[in-house]
Amino acid sequence: MVSRVVPVCKYKRILLKLSGEFLLNKETGSGIDPDAAAYVAGRIGAAVKMKVQTAVVIGGGNIIRGGSVSSRRMDRVIADHMGMLVTVINTLALKDALERMGIEARIQSAVSMDKFAELVNADRAVRHLKKGRVVLYAGGTGNPFFTTDSAAALRAAEIGADVLLKATNVEGVYSADPRKNPEAILFKKLTYAEALDRRLGVMDAAAFSLCMEAGIPAVVFNFFRKRSIEDVLEGRSVGTVVSHGNQGG
Ligand code: UDP
Repeated sequence: MVSRVVPVCKYKRILLKLSGEFLLNKETGSGIDPDAAAYVAGRIGAAVKMKVQTAVVIGGGNIIRGGSVSSRRMDRVIADHMGMLVTVINTLALKDALERMGIEARIQSAVSMDKFAELVNADRAVRHLKKGRVVLYAGGTGNPFFTTDSAAALRAAEIGADVLLKATNVEGVYSADPRKNPEAILFKKLTYAEALDRRLGVMDAAAFSLCMEAGIPAVVFNFFRKRSIEDVLEGRSVGTVVSHGNQGG
């Protein structure tokens, strides 16, 4: 008789942070591509199949990042409001892609959007997660001058996630930009303090501070490497673990 080995997951509840750029149409370089959304949904589905409770924060970098818009051309607060609205559109695209795969998902928004989404509510989110539904967080923190990295850390703390998985398109945290500097070294582990001191571009300081405060380890990993989600969840040494130094790795 063939016995199937069920993978043992290191984490029970995760908060996955995705960049809005993951939804870009690679040919036109803009907007939301249903094929890209399907790829992302498939990767989220891999975690769901492993029975890991999965909450997701997605950014809006595929259309607008408020901080990148020149203040001479647009008011920062308005640009940030636009960025937050993009994240709502992105969660709708992801919900569609997930449900096409038969995966139930609920959107919770930090800004009232009652035709499309519930308001953020941690207890309700946890109930969804326990029922195997993916919770998609929209609207970031609901405040300008923040990023969706901070929203990810905030939501991870609210729902008591075991880890924040920060998905990127490089292997993890490097000593320099690996796309510009071939000598750049990949760190396997960092403490929060080291991550903060180094002012790493990979995740903002407010997000690292929140993770440190809540004691939630962050794993920075390559979302596009084959089976990377599975490897992280099964506890293999993938990407960079940022923690107090005695956890998460
Ligand atoms: N944003 C904001 N407050 C938040 C989260 C996001 O004002 O709590 C705005 C901000 O302008 C940000 C944009 O939404 O640049 C898109 O989010 P982010 O840059 O984090 O997206 P990503 O780079 O992850 O795609």
